[in-house]
Amino acid sequence: MKTLKMKAAVLYKPEEMRIEEIPVPEIKEDEILIRVKRCGICGTDPHIYKGRFPVPTPLVLGHEFSGEVVKVGSAVTTVKVGDKATADINIACGNCYFCRMGQKLFCKDIVQIGVHINGAFAEYVKVPESSVYKLPNNMAWEEGAYVEPLACAIHGQERANIAIGSTVAIIGAGPMGLTHAILSKMNGASRVIISELNQVRLQKARDLGIDYVIDASKDDPIKAVLELTDGRGADVVFEVVGTIPTYKQAFRMVRKGGVLVAYGAAPADAVMDIRPFDIYSKELTIVGSYAGTYNTWVKAINLISAKRFIPSNIITKSVSLDNVVEGIIEAENNKDTIKIMVEIPD
Ligand SMILES: [Zn+2]
Ligand SMILES: [Zn+2]
Repeated sequence: MKTLKMKAAVLYKPEEMRIEEIPVPEIKEDEILIRVKRCGICGTDPHIYKGRFPVPTPLVLGHEFSGEVVKVGSAVTTVKVGDKATADINIACGNCYFCRMGQKLFCKDIVQIGVHINGAFAEYVKVPESSVYKLPNNMAWEEGAYVEPLACAIHGQERANIAIGSTVAIIGAGPMGLTHAILSKMNGASRVIISELNQVRLQKARDLGIDYVIDASKDDPIKAVLELTDGRGADVVFEVVGTIPTYKQAFRMVRKGGVLVAYGAAPADAVMDIRPFDIYSKELTIVGSYAGTYNTWVKAINLISAKRFIPSNIITKSVSLDNVVEGIIEAENNKDTIKIMVEIPD
């Protein structure tokens, strides 16, 4: 039998990605083949493309996707051909200590779609049934492709445990910073303060109705947060940039007894000085948030399908599969673009 081919963007080594015809993935009895319709370009994709985040190659990147189920293995019962679907990129063993503790992100054998195995910058992607989520029929493809980033942000929100009436400060108004701003309001924050350097992102934050938008190219965000809180600092601070200077800002913006959420991915070898005495005497709660997991996927689908979260407010551009490299480079270098989707027509 002739192997079916599909178009895919294949990374061979850092900065060498080629659009090629490769075999359509073959599925096992517990797997599903999805015809990809949209796949978002994530902030980690440029890191992988440039080699700062090493991955096994050759590899098809792309982990924020939606598409149509076109084939299901004989044992699959949760989705059927024709369904709209997305998938949790984190494939865990289900049996190790962390999996049994409900913390599959730390599974000793974790495999991530688009990071360790082929992802969705391609016409087709295969996923195991344990990761698949059926999407409602009325959900647009680009909305379905925003479930993954929204699930990640919801996990960060749950880690923050925002109390009603809180003041929340967010450093960075990229796709994830803006998403955290919207979710913080939903979670009952009385005031959300966001700081950012890029003018287009600042304007987007104003358009979305975020309470206080601080232009960090002109004003000191620490001073702004302290002024707005009678010198105390914010109840909850989200660092959503991932640099040492912004992490330092976060420590100075959080109030005594407050919560600091480390959401921005700093370079793995970056080191900063902190005074343990500050954490101790201010009784700070510092939480990390690295990806979405289990229930946050369900919640993300529910929020989007109920139109309580509108991904099109964040998505500002689409590119074709042929132009995925340009899209990845733009995602890294052009902060005027907020969120880019790769669009794969029928
Ligand atoms: Zn991502
Ligand atoms: Zn495991």
